[in-house]
Amino acid sequence: MINLFHSGGCHDSCCLKVQNVSVKIGGDRILRNVNLHVHCGQLVALIGPNGAGKSTLLNALLGEREFDGNIIFSVPGSRRAKARIGYVPQSPNFDPGDPVSVTDLFCCCLSRRPAFLGCGKSDRELILECLERVHGEDLIDKRVGTLSGGELQRVLLALALEPMPNILILDEPLSGVDIEGQTGLMDMLDEIRREYDLSILMTTHDFSMLSRYADRVVLIDHEVKCQGTSAEVLESDEFRRAFHMKEGK
Ligand code: ADP
Ligand code: MG
Repeated sequence: MINLFHSGGCHDSCCLKVQNVSVKIGGDRILRNVNLHVHCGQLVALIGPNGAGKSTLLNALLGEREFDGNIIFSVPGSRRAKARIGYVPQSPNFDPGDPVSVTDLFCCCLSRRPAFLGCGKSDRELILECLERVHGEDLIDKRVGTLSGGELQRVLLALALEPMPNILILDEPLSGVDIEGQTGLMDMLDEIRREYDLSILMTTHDFSMLSRYADRVVLIDHEVKCQGTSAEVLESDEFRRAFHMKEGK
């Protein structure tokens, strides 16, 4: 069951609780009894080998995958307050020849007007405001297919932040982004997290940024193998086993 409403738990601040979540696809059990907790304003990194079930868990959180167990989003304020979830999907592929511009993409997602009519003045102002949050105003007229990996992630992030969510979920935002772009993107996420007290749950294969940016790290391989600070997880036997590393490496 997904509960998006105020739960009164967690000292009345916003949080995400995943309780005993299991997912079966076909006959295969992909996730078993996953428990985790993202507190308000925290960045939690979900790591694990390919096929471990990271994206499956995010899909369950988004209500796109059936599961057993409980997923509870709670937000501060009145009992009627409903949690808003922002989602940045794993980098979609756009063809460089595709005529879709960043403005068109925003119009499709945010405006009530059909994209082929073009966007109005007020739509353009809103798009610029959204892009400003990710320092991407200069991208507004670019074609989506010509953006670099880092630029595309910033555009997708800007879309996910309108309206400002309580929790932001990102699936491998660093893949396809060069090292410089990765640091820029993580610095930006950190800045937005602090400014808006946003909770962030992201999957990543980039372990080098965990100690600097992640409050907690959760290692999953069909079940939670280990969770804690980045040092606790990266130095654990479970981490070495999950990534087939030899002792001492
Ligand atoms: P990760 O994101 O950790 O790499 P996924 O959550 O994408 O892993 O996938 C976990 C497992 O679930 C994989 O074995 C994958 O093949 C399987 N799986 C995911 N989605 C589907 C689906 N729609 N149909 C069948 N199997 C799926
Ligand atoms: Mg995945």
